[in-house]
Amino acid sequence: MNKNIELPASIVIRDLAQKVEKSPIEIIKKLMSNGVMASINQSVDFDTAAIVVAEYGFDAVPEAMEEVKKEEVGEVPLWRRLIADEDASKLVVRPPVVTILGHVDHGKTSLLDAIRQTDVAAGEAGGITQHIGAYQVEKKGRTITFLDTPGHAAFTAMRARGAQGADIVILVVAADDGVMPQTKEAIAHAKAARVPIIVALNKIDKPNSNPERVKQQLAELELVPDDWGGSTMVVPVSAKQKQGIDDLLEGILLVADNMDIRANPSGKVMGTVIEAEVDKSKGTIATLLVQNGTLEAGDIVVAGKSYGRMKAITDYKGKPVKKAAPSTPVSVMGLNDVPAAGDVFQVVASERDARTIVAERVNTEKSQVQARKKVSLEDLFASVQSGETRELQLIVKADVQGSLEPLLLELKKLGKGEIGVNILYAETGNIGENDVMLASASKAIVIGFNVQADVSARRLAESEGVSIRLYDIIYRMAEDIEKALKGMLEPEVVEKVIGRATVLAVFSASKLGRVAGCRVTEGELRRNAKVRLFRGTDLVYEGEMASLRHEKEDVREIRTGFECGVGFKNFNDIQTGDLLICYVLEKNG
Ligand code: GDP
Repeated sequence: MNKNIELPASIVIRDLAQKVEKSPIEIIKKLMSNGVMASINQSVDFDTAAIVVAEYGFDAVPEAMEEVKKEEVGEVPLWRRLIADEDASKLVVRPPVVTILGHVDHGKTSLLDAIRQTDVAAGEAGGITQHIGAYQVEKKGRTITFLDTPGHAAFTAMRARGAQGADIVILVVAADDGVMPQTKEAIAHAKAARVPIIVALNKIDKPNSNPERVKQQLAELELVPDDWGGSTMVVPVSAKQKQGIDDLLEGILLVADNMDIRANPSGKVMGTVIEAEVDKSKGTIATLLVQNGTLEAGDIVVAGKSYGRMKAITDYKGKPVKKAAPSTPVSVMGLNDVPAAGDVFQVVASERDARTIVAERVNTEKSQVQARKKVSLEDLFASVQSGETRELQLIVKADVQGSLEPLLLELKKLGKGEIGVNILYAETGNIGENDVMLASASKAIVIGFNVQADVSARRLAESEGVSIRLYDIIYRMAEDIEKALKGMLEPEVVEKVIGRATVLAVFSASKLGRVAGCRVTEGELRRNAKVRLFRGTDLVYEGEMASLRHEKEDVREIRTGFECGVGFKNFNDIQTGDLLICYVLEKNG
């Protein structure tokens, strides 16, 4: 009887060879004899691998546990969250919303134009005269919505705000140029957002196009083309010569059919702001993508910190409409301010409700900015335990390919424990802004090995709350991550001085012992912060305050210019002229 062997949905030849304890060369030969050409770093899908392992007396079974784990990982698409409370019996299929990503110059804009021109209806109306950031086309009597803002900057910005307009990503790869850095970034984004990818293999009209090479590159990135037995649809197109566009649209419908994309047209009206601007004569014009419910003229909408009654709704062709059902992009007027792309919008019952919501948002914004949670190695364990995180998301940058490989191997080993490690993106080169944006949108940590972080990347990391960790020795990195996964990593603590004061007089208060009468000269003193007392350059006390008073009142803090009384825990030897420094300890993850 054959032995069972667990195999994932796709497996790299090298790993497959290890599983059956044969040399990779032997496996490659076996594949060749079955008509499959693959190199050691390429992946084959489950069925192909099953044929190979059968030759060695194994029965392949799907790696069930792995599948379930993968399902849990990543974000839940916004639209699924939006319809979570809807009555399931009222949900109907809505058009898929598609966005186009890919490396610069691979033909995103050209493809969007070519697709737009296939739309007969738009052609009859004399073409689309205005660009609202989205448009729709008909195919086989069904509608597909395209977000017309190519480039993953828009996609990332939206994701970073928790929004997600697209159901499907079209990844444009030029057949003459192949997979490039931004192609890999786009794949990382789509995977992190759990949005399925269809590859548009563009520029096939070019004499130097090499589709097979691109397919091989894609397979190496775990996007195994369907004609290689994988599950990624790869559609050859030429945006320039308008070839393959119909196939691409049909492909989108096929993928959409497998996704069960639904909404409740009579449910709560919500969606995402695609773009917005101020027009001198018309006021704020915003493009909204309705994701649930039906938006109607006259509705009162709150979008981010703006609100207003929808005065005029027009479709992507500029035609006035009264209603917009799920997946419909519309241009609206009537908001009192400009919302940001990626803001979620909703319809409310009255302007008063709208004002209340906006006021609350404005009020909580400041505290949110401060409380913005930095994803760090130090608090990984805690956030896993509280259910916020399921695994450690990493972006790995290294100086050379030669150091990237052992690094990834080490990280994969570490991720076999209770808390998994998911590598979103691994590449050579310094840490740049794109890496930080990807990290921010995916709540990931950036690991740099023998590389630097660009100044702009550091700044962005600071404002986005992204943690960057630099290493030059693999075992140090491994040690840190291992400790983090076990919840044993001590936070890196830094001191931050928050205030200074001089002692002007010393009092004796019967209950409190001796008290320093101080004036705050800089920053503030906080009751629960730590203090040091200096006499000249000598440190005479280090510890905590026993009391902080302003005019006999106990206070929690006191600012520059004010006078106060400070008592110290277990310390009475205070003298006039002493210098008080107040500091807090901050985690620096
Ligand atoms: P984007 O930067 O990804 O938006 O790329 P563009 O759509 O601006 O295209 C970049 C260049 O590639 C332009 O010069 C296009 O004319 C050209 N291009 C786009 N698609 C094709 C194609 O299918 N075939 C050929 N030969 N050129 C194309």
